[in-house]
Amino acid sequence: MQLLDGKVASKAVKEQLKAKVDKIIASGARAPHLAVILVGNNGASETYVASKVKTCAEIGYQSTEIRREVDITEADLLSEIQKLNEDPSVDGILVQLPLPKHIDEQKVIAAIDPTKDVDGFHPVSAGNLTLGMPTFIPATPYGIMLMLEHYHISTKGKHAVVIGRSNIVGRPMSILLSTNNPYGNCTVTLCHSHTPNLEELCLQADIIVAALGRPGFVKPEMVNEGAIIIDVGITRVEDATAKRGYRIKGDVDFEAVASKASYITPVPGGVGLMTIAGLLQNTLVAYEKRTAAAAKQ
Ligand code: NAP
Repeated sequence: MQLLDGKVASKAVKEQLKAKVDKIIASGARAPHLAVILVGNNGASETYVASKVKTCAEIGYQSTEIRREVDITEADLLSEIQKLNEDPSVDGILVQLPLPKHIDEQKVIAAIDPTKDVDGFHPVSAGNLTLGMPTFIPATPYGIMLMLEHYHISTKGKHAVVIGRSNIVGRPMSILLSTNNPYGNCTVTLCHSHTPNLEELCLQADIIVAALGRPGFVKPEMVNEGAIIIDVGITRVEDATAKRGYRIKGDVDFEAVASKASYITPVPGGVGLMTIAGLLQNTLVAYEKRTAAAAKQ
């Protein structure tokens, strides 16, 4: 079994990005700029945003964190997004999800300028992804693709079972793995809560991507010997012995499954770190397109 180490793979991506940004800055140009909007004070969201802002600083990006109270109106949030859409110094806009219940997430996502949609959730980005056209790929599936690339994992012709069909992870993951690209060309089965024979399907899989948010769901009896296991799950599970009173658990029963797998991602330290790498990669692409378009004018 080989560990697919998110620390190692994300470090490699970040070093490449930093080298590019160093060159950009040395040429006298401005740095790529990511704007992040955080509504309310959800603990997990605060951690994710802090980590995104910190990583921006590490690789030389500019970042702006915009914090708004949990009771912000939808109209006010949309107007914040409009300001960022119109700001020529902003390359990427990310609205940290989930949003409070009184705000329509889809409306907010659709309000982001698609050229700044570095989270890849806008309908234009999702449509382009489905058509196999260049686009911003949602950061988590993109991070998984970068992980497969880093470890040179051959996917061609393999059967991939993706558990979970959310717009941000499972569905785009299933599209990427089925697309004709160097780390795609799989035959993909996309499963969800209405899939009756999940265990049977998993046993036919060369690759399992678990993205359902049920800690320890994937058990060894569901896994074929030599399968590649990608664990996307992040759930806080109460643990009185842990410093913070909880532990982060993935969707795979790691200890029991690892010995059957050929490759496996740990949680934490796997896909989560790659998600930030995917986001920063998207932000650089947004920057390059913006500056190239500005140069033409
Ligand atoms: P989500 O929107 O809640 O979607 C969960 C999906 O799993 C749904 O499609 C659901 O099916 C399916 N599902 C739930 N229970 C199932 C079961 N027993 N059998 C088969 N399918 C089942 O979740 P998400 O946003 O995609 O996130 C999934 C997990 O990944 C969470 O733990 C989340 O925290 C984590 N995550 C991690 C990262 C990262 O960077 N590592 C990023 C994003 C999310 P239905 O559609 O039928 O309801």
